[in-house]
Amino acid sequence: MTVQTVPYFVPTFADDAADAVLDALRSGWVTTGPRVAAFEEEFAAHVGAAHAIAVSTCTAAIELSLRALGLPEGSPVLTPSLTFCSAVGVIVNARLRPVLVDVDEHTLTPSPETVAAAVRRAGKPAAMVVTHMAGYPVDAKELAAAAGLPMERIVEDIAHGPGGTLRGAPVGADSYAGCFSFYATKNLPIGEGGAIVTYDADLAARLRAMRLHGMTKDAWKRYLPGGSWRYDVAELGMKANFTDMQAAIGRAQLRALPGMQARRAELAARYDDALTGLPGLTLPQRPATGHAWHLYQVRLADRDTVDARLNDAGVGTSVHFIPVHRLTAYARLLGAEECATVPVTDRVADELLSIPLYPGLSDEQQDQVISALAGALGGPPC
Ligand SMILES: *Cc1c(COP(=O)(O)O)cnc(C)c1O
Repeated sequence: MTVQTVPYFVPTFADDAADAVLDALRSGWVTTGPRVAAFEEEFAAHVGAAHAIAVSTCTAAIELSLRALGLPEGSPVLTPSLTFCSAVGVIVNARLRPVLVDVDEHTLTPSPETVAAAVRRAGKPAAMVVTHMAGYPVDAKELAAAAGLPMERIVEDIAHGPGGTLRGAPVGADSYAGCFSFYATKNLPIGEGGAIVTYDADLAARLRAMRLHGMTKDAWKRYLPGGSWRYDVAELGMKANFTDMQAAIGRAQLRALPGMQARRAELAARYDDALTGLPGLTLPQRPATGHAWHLYQVRLADRDTVDARLNDAGVGTSVHFIPVHRLTAYARLLGAEECATVPVTDRVADELLSIPLYPGLSDEQQDQVISALAGALGGPPC
């Protein structure tokens, strides 16, 4: 058996995260309480957004955002297929209809051209999910214009942020509904968790209720001194609240985030330098500024062979993503005709390979990835 010396991913936790969890536990507030409120304030400030609503997952963040749009059942929602399956699943769960949009082969995100083409093919959508793939900062306003939609119909999947910037502002600062993930492998790992950021005070108030069954008051508000057990449910919600245990870790992680992002950027630059010119390999596209470097995705003509050789050399890899329309349940749900509308996605999906990129990756480990990749491309290893 090959010894894996460079795992694909290892999470980094701030030194003070463990003590923060114990403090939360000992405080008696283990579900949504004061630490959640503090985390929301700090996260909103970090992103430069007016409001942040912390929720259980990014999947729930996207579903709640879509439900909050209040669209008629069956309304078409544009989404890339080159994304995580749950981001399309929630469109269905919100009783809306996914319509696929192709990606630009360099940025791996939809472009104004691919959005316009999807609108010509399928008609004007009611809403659109914009995915900031790998941390590449997408201009959501430009895509909204291409779809003929106002920003109030755009849900941004920023699971691969935070850390990206666009025109000098953090990605999410201009979002109507910007959805983040704090899943174990993401840039701000908590284990599980998510958040929605918005400039809209009404949307923020509704999402705050909708994340906990639609109740107009959460437990923290009901049981504060002077609080009351009375509440109402004005609109249906989900059980998707964030806990003080998660918030305790999140606050510590947020303080560590700038350092972790700097290391990601440094590693990405080292990969760029070392891998430039290798035969049969295409580097990820660099935006002018502001990549969040969640993933380092190379494109390889013979991806599966190179992948096997890397694994033999003890290097872990991943693929982001198997296009959603190729997954059995989604293929059935979308139908063969819809699945045939994203040729660029189909082509690049067979070439993509994600190689290790995380703050805890050492220079020595990265050098091992680089030489394994060079060896794999240079012919059979001896
Ligand atoms: C991880 C991920 C999600 C889901 O995030 P969770 O917090 O695990 O629900 C959604 N979209 C994309 C693009 C992702 O990578």
